[in-house]
Amino acid sequence: MQEKKIICTVCPIGCTIAVKGEGGKILSIEGHTCKRGEEYSANEFLHPVRILTSTVRLKGSDMPLMPVRSNKPLPRESLFDCMEEIKKTEAKVPVRCMDVIIKDILGTGIDIVATGNAE
Ligand code: SF4
Repeated sequence: MQEKKIICTVCPIGCTIAVKGEGGKILSIEGHTCKRGEEYSANEFLHPVRILTSTVRLKGSDMPLMPVRSNKPLPRESLFDCMEEIKKTEAKVPVRCMDVIIKDILGTGIDIVATGNAE
């Protein structure tokens, strides 16, 4: 059996929720004080995801790096490989905030987008 303590980030209260599970199934959830926390902790236990933030090299600008992020949360297990892909990428000016820098990164269906502007 696996047990995880999860801090709920759905609201600022930040309840600590204990989730127990086995074989991809939830056995118990304790410590949440509302339904939203129950759903959040179950998803976090079974399929943890994160918004990925990073930088890419920028060609043709005084700014050496452009900040980027994923446009949706990525599965946590794919973050390392996505970072490696981002490291290999070079953006060219002009870049506008929310321009797609890497489309469908590693076939996840999620794009890496710029979070700044550069001429
Ligand atoms: S469990 Fe409910 S009350 Fe607690 S942090 Fe999550 S959303 Fe907020």
